[in-house]
Amino acid sequence: MMEIGFIGLGRMGSGMAANLQRAGHSLTVYNRSPGKDTDLVRAGARRADTFGDACRADVVFTMLSDDRALEDVAYGDAGILTRLRAGAVHISSSTISVELAERLAADHAAVGQRFIAAPVFGRPDAAAAARLAVVAAGAPDAIDEVMALLKSIGQRVFIVSETPKIANLVKLSGNFLIASVIEALGEAMVLVSKAGVDKDQYLNILTSTLFDAPVYRTYGSLIAYEKFEPAGFAAPLGHKDIRLALSAAEALMVPLPLASLLHDRFLRLLANGGEGLDWSAIGGLAARDAGLS
Ligand code: NAP
Repeated sequence: MMEIGFIGLGRMGSGMAANLQRAGHSLTVYNRSPGKDTDLVRAGARRADTFGDACRADVVFTMLSDDRALEDVAYGDAGILTRLRAGAVHISSSTISVELAERLAADHAAVGQRFIAAPVFGRPDAAAAARLAVVAAGAPDAIDEVMALLKSIGQRVFIVSETPKIANLVKLSGNFLIASVIEALGEAMVLVSKAGVDKDQYLNILTSTLFDAPVYRTYGSLIAYEKFEPAGFAAPLGHKDIRLALSAAEALMVPLPLASLLHDRFLRLLANGGEGLDWSAIGGLAARDAGLS
């Protein structure tokens, strides 16, 4: 059993930390705002007053919103890079930029720590049920040491590279693909529903034939019933991921015309009061554009 620090108990982190705890590990948890660690502490986790305090561990997980949040927690006098002991492992599960993952890998290595990128696919319900798909990359010795931890948060663990940033690239490409499905579903659904076709029946036709996949079932139903609140994955984070995918694509000189379109769809949503909605709400824009509610 390992000593684990867990930083970031948001929608995803709270479920992931609970599963590590259930697997028998000793947890020290930190969240910027109070109140999100109550269940974990009640079940035996230690509450850290600062994120630096959560670094007295063999492994520290971070599950934070974005690059800026992770930079705040990793760098600076009380940051992970200063506080984690040499040889310990930082597992970064946030969806961050390829560039930050590359920088963190180098900076951790410079002080003798190890860095693994382990972003995840799956929404908060999957995080709570330990059914995430974990896409990990890092040095094989570090990955071997933490494999049991990755398995306790996910139903599948995929090792994609020895270079951490590659896992982040795979994650960003996946979210680009999901957002494309959301937009396409929204457009197709409004086309038929404006002509009077029942959305339920339409969705059933799709998901019981050519489109028999979780992504169509999950997002098809959110769009059909306009279940955009409460947000499981908040629209500003979806916007962030498309921006990061575009930036990774620019660095590799890979045109992604669809991602550019999606970037504008997110801007339209956010500029019109969509901040608090689930990212699937971009799938509701086609209906508004067609003059429906
Ligand atoms: P969330 O519920 O908004 O939680 C974000 C976490 O980051 C909270 O603990 C928040 O603390 C913390 N945070 C933000 N800025 C911070 C800062 N400057 N310093 C310290 N802590 C800070 O987000 P989430 O849905 O769990 O997503 C977390 C990450 O997982 C994101 O990178 C997201 O893209 C990715 N992801 C999300 C999903 C999903 O379906 N939700 C799926 C896969 C991957 P406070 O509580 O104080 O705000």
